[in-house]
Amino acid sequence: MWRGLAVCLFVLLASACASQRIVQIPDPKAPGRTPAAAERQALLPVQIQWFRTTAEYAASTRTIYAAATRQVGYQTDLCKEPNASPWIVVMDADETILDNSMWRVELTAKGLDYSPEGWNEWVGRPRKEDLVPGAADFIRAVAKRCGHIVVVTNRLLKTPKRSVDECAVTRVHLRELFGSDPIADVLCAEPNEEGKPINDKNPRFKRIENGEVAGLHTGKIVMYVGDSITDFPGMKGCPTELDFEAMAPKLGTEYFVLPNPMYGGWLGCHTPVEPRPFH
Ligand SMILES: [Mg+2]
Repeated sequence: MWRGLAVCLFVLLASACASQRIVQIPDPKAPGRTPAAAERQALLPVQIQWFRTTAEYAASTRTIYAAATRQVGYQTDLCKEPNASPWIVVMDADETILDNSMWRVELTAKGLDYSPEGWNEWVGRPRKEDLVPGAADFIRAVAKRCGHIVVVTNRLLKTPKRSVDECAVTRVHLRELFGSDPIADVLCAEPNEEGKPINDKNPRFKRIENGEVAGLHTGKIVMYVGDSITDFPGMKGCPTELDFEAMAPKLGTEYFVLPNPMYGGWLGCHTPVEPRPFH
């Protein structure tokens, strides 16, 4: 029975259907857990619990960032060789640098779903978001060699339909956290005619490569870090659209993919999870 339960939990995590499932905490009288806390936690979807509370999540992101930091060590130390060709790291913001899971907790507590207006309000709150474990050390490692980071995020450029200028707030926030060096700039999503973000990041990657980012000379992008496959050049959102063999040499050297079970384009992939017979 326990094995069956474990399989179910795994399937829940791997499946888009998991977004609506509720995990019951079995023993509210376990040591260190008050009944009230257990009750609140029991309302959280399993993927938010995994993201916020597990050693495995924190260890995963630290592992990935440690590997990315090793790659930084192979780049030219631009502090010592300021005339050398600059190198650039492209990073996503949400669930790559900034941990917004507390907003998901709030939504759950209020019985609400994601909405652009709610997200806009969250981004504008005068608070320090938590950071994804390992991100700050990685950014400091880039700064130590005078590398440049361009944050490419689908937070939205200013639009009359949103009260908070998500891009300006994010730029200020990240620079408060890490300084203008190494955060060279934050490139946000342009709004389309309906005011929704144009999420394709590839044109912004091109702008960086072409030296069209203010204050940043043409340089080589040596690394991408993100929690969505679309944070990487030319990548589509669903496994069936990807050539993993072609991607393999870049994984762990140029591309560093972080886990995010809470949300993402993968929810729209409808990838079937077929049970296989055991032999
Ligand atoms: Mg993200």
